[in-house]
Amino acid sequence: MKGSRKLRLAPLWPALAALAVMAMALVFLLPPLFERSVSDQLLDALRLVERAVAPALGEPPRELQARVTRLAADTSLRITVLADDGRVLADSDRTWEEVQRMENHSGRPEVLQAHQQGSGRSTRRSATTGRRYVYTARTFQAAAGAPRHVLRLAQPLDELAPMRGRLLEAAGLALLATLGVIALLSTWLDRRLLQPLASLIDGAAALAAGRYDRRLPVPEQRDLADLARAINRMTGRVEEQIAAVEKERDHLQTILASMSEGVLVVDGEGRAVLANPAFRRLLGPPGEVEGRLPFEMVRHPQLAAVIERTLAHGEAAADEVVLDVVERGAEAEPRTVALAGSALRIPPSGAAGDAKGNPGGVVVVRDTTQTTRLIQMRRDFVANVSHELKTPLSAIRGYAETLRDGALAEAATARRFTGRILEQCRRLQEILDDLLILSRLESVEIPLESRPVSLRRLAEGCLETISPYAEERGVRLLALPPGDDPPPLTGDRGALERLLLNLLENAIKYNREGGEVSVRVASTDGGSELLLEVADTGIGIPQAALPRIFERFYRVDKGRARDEGGTGLGLAIVKHVAQAHGGRVEVESRHRHGSTFRVFLPL
Ligand code: ADP
Repeated sequence: MKGSRKLRLAPLWPALAALAVMAMALVFLLPPLFERSVSDQLLDALRLVERAVAPALGEPPRELQARVTRLAADTSLRITVLADDGRVLADSDRTWEEVQRMENHSGRPEVLQAHQQGSGRSTRRSATTGRRYVYTARTFQAAAGAPRHVLRLAQPLDELAPMRGRLLEAAGLALLATLGVIALLSTWLDRRLLQPLASLIDGAAALAAGRYDRRLPVPEQRDLADLARAINRMTGRVEEQIAAVEKERDHLQTILASMSEGVLVVDGEGRAVLANPAFRRLLGPPGEVEGRLPFEMVRHPQLAAVIERTLAHGEAAADEVVLDVVERGAEAEPRTVALAGSALRIPPSGAAGDAKGNPGGVVVVRDTTQTTRLIQMRRDFVANVSHELKTPLSAIRGYAETLRDGALAEAATARRFTGRILEQCRRLQEILDDLLILSRLESVEIPLESRPVSLRRLAEGCLETISPYAEERGVRLLALPPGDDPPPLTGDRGALERLLLNLLENAIKYNREGGEVSVRVASTDGGSELLLEVADTGIGIPQAALPRIFERFYRVDKGRARDEGGTGLGLAIVKHVAQAHGGRVEVESRHRHGSTFRVFLPL
């Protein structure tokens, strides 16, 4: 715990600094103070010595020397008497002979100062004795009018060195004691404050790293405990808020992911902020979309145009895009999407919204292929129906007009024409019947009946019904092979009969004279499906037309089919009936050799 060690040592530094300052003060400031106080005392002592020396000034110099030596005996003091000109008259540390040889002392700093101010002091090493002294000097006169003398008193500073040693010793001891106290103090601080604080710091770092499930331990110390509890409360709230934000984000993402419409959100500059899976599926931008411009993502300029218009005017813009053209059977069908852009009111994230405050926009992409196809189919259907109805109607009108304009008079012609009119009316009737069946099959409101139907019995009945027509066309209907009797199927008997009759009718109609038609029923796919097969030896269907023959009004050979009285709706009904029963139709055909239609119906 690096931080904690730093914290533990923190109180040590000021204490050490204070001690160092104290030691410096002791070692460097005390000796001068001491010297000063010694010199003050010496100056006071000078007055006493002055009184003792003054009477001897009139005596012979030897007497003066003896008196001075006596005075200083048994003291550490040194007494020097100088004449006004600086000559040494007596010195307690020297013999009389030595005094005779002593140099003039008028240049000594304390003497010079005494001459100027009456008294002087100085601390230095003595040139005469070689020891360090505190010197003090005063000028004095034994009596008024008597010659002026200088009295000097000196004390060696030999005691100062041991004193300094003792001072250093005391400072060292104080330092040790302080260190001890600091050690005790910091251990106490460490246990009470620093360790809990360090664990709070660790916990807070974990929180900062996003581990919101962690809670800080609550220390004993009251303030720290309050702090830990406050942080824990705050963490709890942050955790709740993050959970709420995450939930909302997941919710939004689920909604966006489950939408069938593609959604692209762009910022104020038109750069993508997010795109949902449907958008990628519909417009297929490869890789990341975030931060990319529309033309970098997809190659449809309309997308960029819609985004630009939306952002520029701040209002909705729409467009339709043909993505590509896919082959659907024999026809090519365009795949289309509708684009709708609208301006965002609130920025979707901090990233959206540029410096000018444009919040960006959202573009919704909807696959309109199916709708377009349905619209197109309805349009084709109406055109086809009108076309189909137009031919018989104009024929009827033609015959009726001819009759009105005189043909009625000729009985034979009139009969022939009314016969034609009846034929065309039957044809109209057939078309309308087929259309009604188709619309009934397509409508959700009228459900098909659900009753058990035996396909074999149904097929036999239909073969009987259609046999006069087969005979008329010279086509042989083969009886069902014996033994084929799969279990009954649940369905609409009427609709299934229509299916079978339509297939049989076609098999006879598009056959040749002497041709054959056979029917087979069987169970397939391990008994889960029933097969109903109608095969003929007729004209067959060209390969290219195969995918389209189940479309409404589609005929391979329009002239022939119409001559045969076909409505072009028969196979559309077959397909619808099969699908309404959950089944499917397949066709296999060789041009000019015959066709086989297979209907698979689940049991
Ligand atoms: P239509 O009423 O004209 O027969 P259908 O929907 O029953 O209409 O059939 C569509 C077209 O499929 C027919 O016009 C015909 O060209 C072709 N077709 C259907 N069945 C056969 C078949 N068994 N043999 C040959 N062509 C067939």
